[in-house]
Amino acid sequence: MKAKVSRRTFLTSAIGAAIAATVPFAWKSRVVARQNNAQFYRFKLGDFQMTSIGDGVLNVPAKVFAGNASPAQLSEVLQQGFQSEMLTLNCNILLVDTGTQKVLIDSGSGLLTDPTAGKLIGNLQTLQIQPTDIDAIIITHAHADHVGGLLDKSGALAFPQARYYISKAEYDFWTNPDVDLSNIQVDEKTKQQFISIAKKCLGAIQEKVTPIEGEREILPGFYAIPAPGHTAGQLAIRVVSGDASMVHTADVVHTHTINLWNPSWQPIFDATPDQAATTRQEILSAIASKRQLMYAYHFPFPGIGYLRPRSRGGFEWEPVRWQFES
Ligand SMILES: [Zn+2]
Repeated sequence: MKAKVSRRTFLTSAIGAAIAATVPFAWKSRVVARQNNAQFYRFKLGDFQMTSIGDGVLNVPAKVFAGNASPAQLSEVLQQGFQSEMLTLNCNILLVDTGTQKVLIDSGSGLLTDPTAGKLIGNLQTLQIQPTDIDAIIITHAHADHVGGLLDKSGALAFPQARYYISKAEYDFWTNPDVDLSNIQVDEKTKQQFISIAKKCLGAIQEKVTPIEGEREILPGFYAIPAPGHTAGQLAIRVVSGDASMVHTADVVHTHTINLWNPSWQPIFDATPDQAATTRQEILSAIASKRQLMYAYHFPFPGIGYLRPRSRGGFEWEPVRWQFES
C-alpha cells in the first residue's frame, strides 16, 4: 500500500533534502546553532566595573548537600524550593575591572569537570577580553570547579600574565605531601582526583602565587575573609569601592535553598564538616545583619543578592533585580 504523504510533509522534506544537498556546511551549522541567553551580567560597585560571567553548570544530586539530613527533610525542602533531586548548580565567575586592573575571582572548571562547565574563556572572548588581559586571579579554594580553568588543554597557564592569590592555609594543605581528606564522604578514587587536580593546578602557578595569611587586604579593594571548613583554607572575599561593598562567599554555601535554609546541613565534601557549618552560620549571619550585598558562586546566575533571616531558621535569598543598563 502506498504511504500517504501530505503536501506539507512532501514540501518540507523536499526542501530539507535540497538544502542538505546544496548549502555549504558552515551555513548549515549556523542554521542549527543554539540560541543562548546571556552568559554575563554587568553591574557597578562604586567605581568598579563588575561582570558576573557564567562558567556553565554542574548537575549534582541534591542529597550530597544534605549529608546529615533525612530523606524526608530533604524532599520537603526540594518541594518547597521547586527543585528536583538532581540540581543544576551555576558556576559564577566574578570579573572586577578596578580601572587599573582586571581581577578574576576563581577560574571555573576548564576541562576538569563536566562538558556543561568550563565556558569562562569563551565568554570572556564574547566580552572582547583576552586571557592575557587578566592581571590577577584570587583563588577561593582549590576544588576543580574553581581552579580547573587555570590551565588550558595543553596544561599551560590559561591566563599567562596573571598574578595569583590564595590563602596560605589552602596552598599549604594541598601542596603538603600528605593530604588528609579523611572527613570527606566520597570514595578513595574521588579523593585522589581532588588531590591530584589541586596539586596540578597549584603546581602550575607556584612561581606566580602570593599566599595570603589572615584577614587582610589582598589587592586594593579586595579583602580576605578566612572561611575554613569546606576546605582547609577557603577564603570569602570582600570587594570594596568607595562606600560600596560586596562579599563573594565562594563555597561557604552551595544552594539557595538546602544550605541557606539549613546552614547546619552538611555537604558531604566539606573537609571539616562542623567547622564548615560554623563558618556558614557566622558569615551568612554577618551578611544578613549588615544587609550586605552578596555574590554566590553556585547560586542561580548572576548570583547577586541579599539575605534575610527566615522565621523557621536559616536565611532567604533575595536576588537583585535585573538591571538592563550597567
Ligand atoms: Zn564549588
